[in-house]
Amino acid sequence: MKIRKGDTVVIIAGKDRGKRGKVRRAWPDEERVVVDGLNMIKRHSRARRAARQAGIIELEAPIHVSNVMLVCEKCGNPTRVSFRFLDDGKKVRICNSCQEMID
Ligand SMILES: [Zn+2]
Repeated sequence: MKIRKGDTVVIIAGKDRGKRGKVRRAWPDEERVVVDGLNMIKRHSRARRAARQAGIIELEAPIHVSNVMLVCEKCGNPTRVSFRFLDDGKKVRICNSCQEMID
């Protein structure tokens, strides 16, 4: 997947469009990520046995990777990513904006 845990991304769709955040979790199979503090949803919850107070809690909702763009650490631009194989066979991500290796 083009986006991984720990990446900085910018949201390109929805109410948080234009905001940046760090990817906290990634689900490659579903092509979804959770970005710290973004795409919040409100959940109404009842007090449960163990934890959590009753009331409204805010959670980050997973967002599809097509709705985010990777922000390149090298050039700071939101960018598309391409892949390249190194001589040792390792697959790395390349910033399409500055052509630098991201990994
Ligand atoms: Zn770059």
